[in-house]
Amino acid sequence: MSFLKERDPEVFGIIERELERQNSGLEMIASENFTLPEVMEAMGSVFTNKYAEGYPKKRYYGGCENADDIEQLAIDRAKELFNCEFVNVQPHSGSQANGAVYSALLKAGDKILGMDLSHGGHLTHGAKVSFSGQNYQSFFYGVELDGRINYDRVRDIANIVKPKILVCGASAYSREIDFAKFREIADEVGAILMADIAHIAGLVVAGEHPHPFPHCDVVTTTTHKTLGGPRGGLIMTNDEELSKKINKAIFPGLQGGPLVHVIAAKAVGFRYNLTPEWKEYAKQVKKNASTLAEVLVSRGYDVVSGGTDNHLVLVSFLNKEFSGKDADLALGNAGITVNKNTVPGETRSPFVTSGIRVGSPALTSRGMKEAEFKLIATRIADVLDDIENSQKQEEIRKELEELAKKFVIYNQPTY
Ligand code: PLP
Repeated sequence: MSFLKERDPEVFGIIERELERQNSGLEMIASENFTLPEVMEAMGSVFTNKYAEGYPKKRYYGGCENADDIEQLAIDRAKELFNCEFVNVQPHSGSQANGAVYSALLKAGDKILGMDLSHGGHLTHGAKVSFSGQNYQSFFYGVELDGRINYDRVRDIANIVKPKILVCGASAYSREIDFAKFREIADEVGAILMADIAHIAGLVVAGEHPHPFPHCDVVTTTTHKTLGGPRGGLIMTNDEELSKKINKAIFPGLQGGPLVHVIAAKAVGFRYNLTPEWKEYAKQVKKNASTLAEVLVSRGYDVVSGGTDNHLVLVSFLNKEFSGKDADLALGNAGITVNKNTVPGETRSPFVTSGIRVGSPALTSRGMKEAEFKLIATRIADVLDDIENSQKQEEIRKELEELAKKFVIYNQPTY
């Protein structure tokens, strides 16, 4: 970043500080990851200069021949990766992807049924503060007190609501999602089935989580979470008519010019996702999350649903004096970044919560394995056991900083 350093030292300085923060701390936010340096190079490329409204070979501007090539390459790689027929690589984010599906398939006021935000769903699955709960009539299913989706209960709710779209997928759910069961329910009530696999996509493409196809009509995802690519969204389907409507909803419906530089970076990320190394990574993500859950359970912590099938662990403090917010702050002081999260049977406000969500994808990208996760989980429990002890938090922060230094953030294997 030599130009930036010379010409805008103020911005350069802040970026340097963020690099230092990412390198020296332990990033355990379940939706974050460290992308590849080559992904960032593509993202910082000259494609940021290009307007390319429309789709490959059907643009509204001249000079799009290279933009066409890069978007087509991203589409082809995504089709291979997700084993599907039609992909839109233009959504600027996961939320835009979900908004485009609704806008393609629903009229204002139509009904959607999704997972409750406070039970692990996402804002865009119908939360009243989101466009999805404001433009459409939204209804919710949730998890039982054991932290699992009860599919009979979802069926009952779906039969009452009769939604036009049934949304499955979550932001804070540590168990496998049964897409085949959701298909049965959607068929029973005549709903379109949409899966939002933003959190689990990296596991899905590695065969480490059941696949939403052929069960789901349309699938959305982000590219920056477990997939480890640039920040952005994707929409996939095997239905040509649906894909035409979705393409129109993205452009000209919701977005203008695509972020061609990000599409280039998505293509680079997909190439890595298609390698055998990626499969190993996804396996390790799950092993590391399981190690985390096992240690926390052995230390007497209430891990929601008793463990995890994926990349994240939810820990409940319903039986503790301290809140998720307290835990989030204390762990932050110890150099471990997590987020406060509501848990089944929640009694506190969404700003305070009774739990935390802890994820393994980012530290796994740094090359950490079970031994490191065992140590980190032990230190998480040490902090929580003595949550007001700021001296202990400082000692742990120093210890973990040494650990972090051994695993630089660009530690992905060459492939
Ligand atoms: N869908 C799910 C399940 C998510 O967890 C998220 C992000 O947290 C999104 C969609 C939205 O993605 P973005 O932040 O890119 O809009």
